[in-house]
Amino acid sequence: AAQAEMPLLAGLNPEQRAAVTLPPEPALILAGAGSGKTRVLTTRIAWLLQTGQVSPGGVLAVTFTNKAAKEMLTRLTAMLPLNARGMWIGTFHGLCNRLLRAHHKLANLPQTFQILDTQDQLSAIKRLYKQHNVDEERFPPKQMQWFIAGCKEDGERPRDVAVHDGDARRKVEIYQLYEEQCQREGVVDFGELMLRSYELLRDNDAVREHYRRRFRHILIDEFQDTNRLQYAWIKIIAGLPAEGGGGAIMAVGDDDQSIYAFRGARVGNMADFVREFHVQHQIKLEQNYRSHSHILDSANQLISHNKKRLGKELRTDQGTGEQVRVYEAPSDFAEAEWVVDEMRQLVKGEGHERKEIAVLYRSNAQSRVLETQLFNAGVPYRVYGGLRFFERAEVKHALAYLRLLENPRDDTSFLRVVNFPPRGIGARSIEQLQDAARDAGTALVDAVGNVPGKAGGNLAAFVARIDVLREQTEGQTLREIIERTLDDSSLLEHYRAERDGADRVENLEELVNAAESFVTQEGFGRDAVALPVDETAGLTQSPASQGLDPNAPLLDERLPEPPPPVDTDTGETRSPLAAFLTHAALEAGDNQAQAGQDAVQLMTVHASKGLEFDAVFITGLEEGLFPNEKAMSDFEGLEEERRLMYVAITRARKRLYLSHAQTRLLHGQTRYNIKSRFLEELPEGSLKWLTPRHGGFASMMPGAHSGANHARPAWGNSAIYPDMVASAAPLPPRKAEPAHGIRAGIKVFHTKFGEGQVMAVEGAGDDARAQVDFPRHGLKWLALAVAKLTVVE
Ligand code: ATP
Ligand code: MG
Repeated sequence: AAQAEMPLLAGLNPEQRAAVTLPPEPALILAGAGSGKTRVLTTRIAWLLQTGQVSPGGVLAVTFTNKAAKEMLTRLTAMLPLNARGMWIGTFHGLCNRLLRAHHKLANLPQTFQILDTQDQLSAIKRLYKQHNVDEERFPPKQMQWFIAGCKEDGERPRDVAVHDGDARRKVEIYQLYEEQCQREGVVDFGELMLRSYELLRDNDAVREHYRRRFRHILIDEFQDTNRLQYAWIKIIAGLPAEGGGGAIMAVGDDDQSIYAFRGARVGNMADFVREFHVQHQIKLEQNYRSHSHILDSANQLISHNKKRLGKELRTDQGTGEQVRVYEAPSDFAEAEWVVDEMRQLVKGEGHERKEIAVLYRSNAQSRVLETQLFNAGVPYRVYGGLRFFERAEVKHALAYLRLLENPRDDTSFLRVVNFPPRGIGARSIEQLQDAARDAGTALVDAVGNVPGKAGGNLAAFVARIDVLREQTEGQTLREIIERTLDDSSLLEHYRAERDGADRVENLEELVNAAESFVTQEGFGRDAVALPVDETAGLTQSPASQGLDPNAPLLDERLPEPPPPVDTDTGETRSPLAAFLTHAALEAGDNQAQAGQDAVQLMTVHASKGLEFDAVFITGLEEGLFPNEKAMSDFEGLEEERRLMYVAITRARKRLYLSHAQTRLLHGQTRYNIKSRFLEELPEGSLKWLTPRHGGFASMMPGAHSGANHARPAWGNSAIYPDMVASAAPLPPRKAEPAHGIRAGIKVFHTKFGEGQVMAVEGAGDDARAQVDFPRHGLKWLALAVAKLTVVE
């Protein structure tokens, strides 16, 4: 009763309160969407701190995205006056990065190691293919990337991988070569962050014991989507009861929201967790606080079609609310138009904020049509996972220079800019250098001296230029470093001289802004330059004991944390520059450029996990798309698609809109679609059909038998494609006609973008659209019915 009076606990229901105030023992909270799992986790941390059961340094909390980590910190600091910087709250990747930075020597990494994002990783693999004559047809680089990621997720180094045939052997060889290349260059990919820090803890008793003692409380959100390696990491940092560990560890999750099996997530981790940690406390939360009941009923009914479930109930007191609206559009284009119309009503008519509206889709390729429509209608929007700021070519060039300042052996960065802007270093010279480096077994920068002649001279000049820049920027602020680098690298000059370079110059300037706001957000002041980090910092009291004398006294968590700046997501840092580079690699998904603006949110269903919005549109509800064709043939895949749909539905608080289109242009092909089976799995009473319910697939086909209207094709991936349809009924001609006289190759004029060249035309009639290359604004897709282009001959 006394506890109930604590303001922290006041707003919680009895089950939530019980979960928040559990004793320091292993616990699992298994509960449906919107039941307050994340809220419980956050409140528990606050409660533990407030009641003095743990200090900030004793908390380790794992969230699924950087955004979630930030949000948790914000909520915590709102609940309690505290310095959250000492807390380890972040994603698995962020926390692993922090561990590896602190113990880089033990982890056999340079202090300045850089993180490869997925794109960098792919280009590193391609580079390796060239050097070692690997056949790209036989071993597609993308598949290799998945193979390597998969091995790492299973904790397998090349020597651990079982080999059955010649191709498999070759793959493992490539994996081995890839590892050597990364090691030489001082770079780690995302999988490596996890595996390397797992091995660090596994192989170093003192380090492991230190963290086990330090982290009195471990909390994990979205536990259903942990993979094998992440769970192993949790076990090793927490310690199992059998090893005298396994104290206070709380996992929260929802088996119905497990949507990353394709990337190795294992729902089975939940059962293993209960068994291996001897979990005595299991709490279910059954009250949903997020959604109106038409929405929640839809979610419940849908997910009841899954057979493999642990089984949970969800109810809501939010009232029935509006019915779920379902719309059938003749085309993807018309679907997007409808979305924009409904949005207008939500914003103008009902006063919803734009950022409280989300449009979800199953696959990234769907976003383009939506973007075109939003753009033409002048609706500000923000795409998660679209063209990301930190992934734009010019930004990556600038980052490459910055990375070379930190780590000259980063070959990926070296190759990216050694001849960019062009300085007369040809492909031949670079090949020579690569050969020399391979022969000597060194990084490129170390082999420059071995390249003879003029080529060698040019290369040496490039290296000298970087070295000088490094010296000159030593001790400068991040802003100064970046501005200087942009100048001295001649990047700015290069783009300024380019006729179409204005956008790129803007983006480079935006990089300075991004750095600036990073500095203010993360608290890197002018004085906070170059923070030296001792390998043993925070670990032993004797810095001399580099070898980590197990008898050395371990630091207690109450001792002061290492001084700021410590980036709460990205971990231990040496300098603002290093922190910023890590931030750029880890948070490439955040489009900083548009942050702050009230904009509609576009994202894949996967990216929406854990989030909530007043209104949600789920688009493209078509067989083959959602459920996705790749997943439709097997039971497991279909159940995962259904969980994905469950996640999508449960993002909505007040309004839910579902739509599908009869035809859709995707990957350059027109597809004739029938509506998703998921629409049939929703409770009829909660739906409001805006278009006739059975107007589906067959009615739009000229010459189709009327009986075909209700003839539902057998499920499978055959029913959706033009060739199959063509055999049932002749197709109308769908070849792109030259609409409005616009065709590829000609010049056109647009009132806003000026003159541009048409690159491609798709669709016909009202759905016609053109891709136009505008010198000042880049490539744009424009709807011809709206955009009113004039032909310039
Ligand atoms: P998901 O499974 O989607 O991640 P969740 O279980 O983590 O959902 P939360 O995001 O923690 O759920 O909570 C959903 C919403 O309900 C939030 O807006 C939260 O603030 C609110 N909420 C949770 N518990 C309560 C409560 N006891 N009283 C009022 N609102 C609550
Ligand atoms: Mg949550």
